[in-house]
Amino acid sequence: MPSLAAKVRRFPLYAPPRVISLREVADSLGAGRPISARDVLHRLDAVPTELRLGESITTETALGGRADMVLRSDGTYTSSGRMRATGFPSFSFVVYPTVEGAGGRFRAMAVHQGRVFGTDTPGDRQRNWSEDGRNEAIRQNWLTFARDARLTVRKEWEVSGVLGTLGDIATAVAQFVGAAAVTGSGGMAALIVVGSQLGAAAGEPWPFPQLPLGVTVASGVLLIFGPAAILPALVAGAAAEALVDHRPLSESEAAFAAKVFGPTLPNREQIILTNMTGLDDRAFVIPGVGGTYLVNLGDHFDDPMAPKGKYAQRGQMLIHELTHVWQAKRWPATTYFCQGVFESTYSPGGDATKPWSSYGIEQQATIVDRWYAADPAFLTGEFQRPFPDLTLKAPHPFDHYLHAHIRAGMT
Ligand SMILES: [Zn+2]
Repeated sequence: MPSLAAKVRRFPLYAPPRVISLREVADSLGAGRPISARDVLHRLDAVPTELRLGESITTETALGGRADMVLRSDGTYTSSGRMRATGFPSFSFVVYPTVEGAGGRFRAMAVHQGRVFGTDTPGDRQRNWSEDGRNEAIRQNWLTFARDARLTVRKEWEVSGVLGTLGDIATAVAQFVGAAAVTGSGGMAALIVVGSQLGAAAGEPWPFPQLPLGVTVASGVLLIFGPAAILPALVAGAAAEALVDHRPLSESEAAFAAKVFGPTLPNREQIILTNMTGLDDRAFVIPGVGGTYLVNLGDHFDDPMAPKGKYAQRGQMLIHELTHVWQAKRWPATTYFCQGVFESTYSPGGDATKPWSSYGIEQQATIVDRWYAADPAFLTGEFQRPFPDLTLKAPHPFDHYLHAHIRAGMT
């Protein structure tokens, strides 16, 4: 009989050299307590390493097609399909093939749009698509959703006109997922967008002027559209668009940040502070559309420099969150996003000789905020000058990370 370890290693998430805990695997599989190795083995056997899902697309008119989605446990996917005008009229269409698993908590959605021409207009009757890619969230969540994954295909079509502007897509997705995002305990964790369609639409003006770029609202839940994912968010008190506050990083905040980061952050106009938080009430940063970075601070929005909880020094929390902007600017969006959502280890540990790249996203941000906060006398003195002399700061084990990576813009 293959060992439990061998069965677990079948899934790239648990590839060597990772140390695997049985409990972690059992939790991913949704196994109750107490757990036995035999029980975990049985459940693992039921999880495929590849999902092939397909569905014909029918409409009540002379338009039809098919959508297929292949997802693999290493995070790669292929979204393919076709739409065809079978009669006289021509159509524009948008289809949203969506793989849903873990009881609806995990969704991977693709967006495909185009025009197909009937006998009324010269042009191609059929439009095919096939798109390959990789999304880290698929790999990370594989055991959780692969057991019960199923494909649904939502579609819209029009005889004339163009469908599939950014506003159309945002509104459709919001209607589609809005209710799911709020249902019950641990509602939708995240909606992963596979495919580049949303990215392609990102150059368009955002059609909801009262909301920050990339944010829309559905069923009382805010949805943040990023290049790699759509994430539900909340504002304190209630989730209504009237209560969302946002503004770019101010000139004084940008000058403050530059004392730590040097010239390595995006322009301040691209850094948008908001009062939103994640569903777990944590502050978080997500790359938005149009090259923006949404820094979601919750009730800290009113005074982003104020000390809060473990961020005891003035400005420490803002430095922490801006480190995520620094990361998001340099890492591929899907990598950044997935690490941010699923990571919970903040402590960098005591070994300051480790390579910078060996730290996770939260550990790196913690290194920077602790380095910043480490010398209170320096902070209230020399640091207040427009161009502080950092050599006057008390030596710190993290100094080399700040100089060789953060301030140099090197990952
Ligand atoms: Zn963080």
